[in-house]
Amino acid sequence: SVPLAFFSGIGAGSKRGILFKGGVAIEALQGVKAIVMDKTGTITQGNFVVQKVIPADGIGEEELLAWAAECEMTSTHPIGNSIVLAAKEKGISLSRPDSVEEISGQGIRAELADGTMLCGNRKFLEEQGIDLTQYEDAVYGTEVLLARNGRFAGHIVIADTIKADAAPAVNALRKLGILTAMLTGDAKKSAESVGKEIGIDEVHARLLPQNKVEELQKIRSQHGSVMFVGDGINDAPVLAGADVGAAMGSGADAAIEAADVVFMTSSMAAVPESLKIARMTGSIAK
Ligand code: ADP
Ligand code: MG
Repeated sequence: SVPLAFFSGIGAGSKRGILFKGGVAIEALQGVKAIVMDKTGTITQGNFVVQKVIPADGIGEEELLAWAAECEMTSTHPIGNSIVLAAKEKGISLSRPDSVEEISGQGIRAELADGTMLCGNRKFLEEQGIDLTQYEDAVYGTEVLLARNGRFAGHIVIADTIKADAAPAVNALRKLGILTAMLTGDAKKSAESVGKEIGIDEVHARLLPQNKVEELQKIRSQHGSVMFVGDGINDAPVLAGADVGAAMGSGADAAIEAADVVFMTSSMAAVPESLKIARMTGSIAK
């Protein structure tokens, strides 16, 4: 049975768009020492917009965008969606790829009529042995790199926006004595610029989904009980591996189901709020 005091916490949460999955979730939250967050869709809005298409020598801008969009046609990732949208807005007609393989947290491998394509982050292309001497590193923002038949074909610059309430939320968590960390599969420069802007304690970039789990375990061994906050896209394993798993309400359905806490409004302000409610409920229960 649920101790009576927990009902007040569950009620207080629901008024603020925070869904606690029972008293167990509130109790677990009371002991949290560190909060680990995903970047895309959690700290940022996840509304990517294509800013620039930069083809390698001998390739056209529209040609590069068409290849990328064909690779991303079946992807549900916000990066993929933004590329497909940019191609549609330019009136580019897309052909279905012969085959597509999406590698979680890295990118896409696809067989198109024009050749074998790789479309993803720098680490992904490097690992596939693509020569990237023609590629100039990003200063900010997320970049999607493309290779065709084993050769670098260009890159696409995509911008996302940091949520307005992200920095205040991180600051509020610090005041509550919580260590904050960001785990992301994105490139180092892009991740660090976001981390600096919101004042987060630790930034860990270029992580695959399984690396995120390892990093979370390290943080737990150093600081204690950990809550993970993510949108569930590419981060189901780390959500499940945390002491408290929290899902942003706009995220994947499976994540919402697996989570202990759901932030219905996708607001970062709800993160410190949930902790305050849990702690208050705790003191009522005792
Ligand atoms: P985050 O850790 O910030 O939530 P993800 O784990 O979803 O990001 O993705 C990590 C990185 O993998 C992205 O920043 C991007 O570089 C690359 N990536 C993932 N999915 C795709 C995709 N469909 N197309 C291109 N790149 C992708
Ligand atoms: Mg993500």
